[in-house]
Amino acid sequence: MKEDIDWAHLPFGYYPTDYNVRCTYRDGKWGEIEVTQSDKVELHMAATCLHYGQEIFEGLKAFRGRDGKVRIFRLEENARRMQDSARGLLMEPIPEELFKEMCIKAVQLNERFIPPYGSGASLYIRPLEIGISPSVGVRSASEYIFIILVTPVGPYFKTGFGCTDICIMRQYDRVAPRGTGRYKCGGNYAASLVAGEHAHELGYSAVLYLDPKEKKYLDECGPANFFAIIDGKYVTPKSDSILPSITNRSLMQLARDMGIEVEERHISVDELERATEAGACGTAAVISPVGSVVDLDNDHRYVIAKDGKPGPVCTALYERLNAIRLGECEDTYGWNTVL
Ligand SMILES: *Cc1c(COP(=O)(O)O)cnc(C)c1O
Repeated sequence: MKEDIDWAHLPFGYYPTDYNVRCTYRDGKWGEIEVTQSDKVELHMAATCLHYGQEIFEGLKAFRGRDGKVRIFRLEENARRMQDSARGLLMEPIPEELFKEMCIKAVQLNERFIPPYGSGASLYIRPLEIGISPSVGVRSASEYIFIILVTPVGPYFKTGFGCTDICIMRQYDRVAPRGTGRYKCGGNYAASLVAGEHAHELGYSAVLYLDPKEKKYLDECGPANFFAIIDGKYVTPKSDSILPSITNRSLMQLARDMGIEVEERHISVDELERATEAGACGTAAVISPVGSVVDLDNDHRYVIAKDGKPGPVCTALYERLNAIRLGECEDTYGWNTVL
């Protein structure tokens, strides 16, 4: 049975699906994979995830391709990053094979929610791990639950691929210089909500954070990585406090393939003066092109897109990555897991 869903207008929210899959780590080992129809989790009230933030997650997508086949984009990379996040929060790393098997299972069990080719929508896959053993002393849990839920999400650009403005606000940091910025943990998001809300109130789509130590270099753009085209090169921040975005890494490869030089380095704020294009990148949007960056502390506006439209490099990279995910062109690097 196919779902009667208005795919093109689905928000990035939670649309209930039929099943989720779970696995529990207990007595030093991962148990059997469980399939459930319940969307509830029963927890001990002293679980470490509730008190000390032992929570990590991932985000990836499955697509229905032009050939009708279902593809999951860069599954292994997400599995590895989740292991890094687990180590960073002293949690139990999920074996790569278990991660992959459970993702595939969650997608297959909810096949009727995979949006059709051409709708611009996709099936968002959200793996999460939490510490569940009770403790009121500060320590890491001995038991964990790993859950994968999936939910269909609509196209990120409902009115077409377009630019938004972002802002620099020095009064906020998302993470500490040697903190948890490079791990995908819920705590980083909790720490960024006030800044994000403030930026939205002022009419900006995201905060462009500066490095938390010196406040000199560009760091992360809200919940996404940042890159700019400067002197014809694809330049993206090198920093210990940003999350290594798999989209960014993919775009860097595609840029090189297009003959564009790639630099991962510190980028000082005033270099934005020379940027001809810029974007925030991540699984949700691939690229969200930047129109202007406004430095609110000195009221300086760096106009990036002079005509207000996404530039040629952003557009080409965006189209290329989408074409790979949808099976419209050759997947040279084997980024897709075809089901
Ligand atoms: C998930 C995330 C990204 C994007 O990573 P992708 O792998 O490209 O989806 C960037 N920054 C932060 C803080 C994130 O949590």
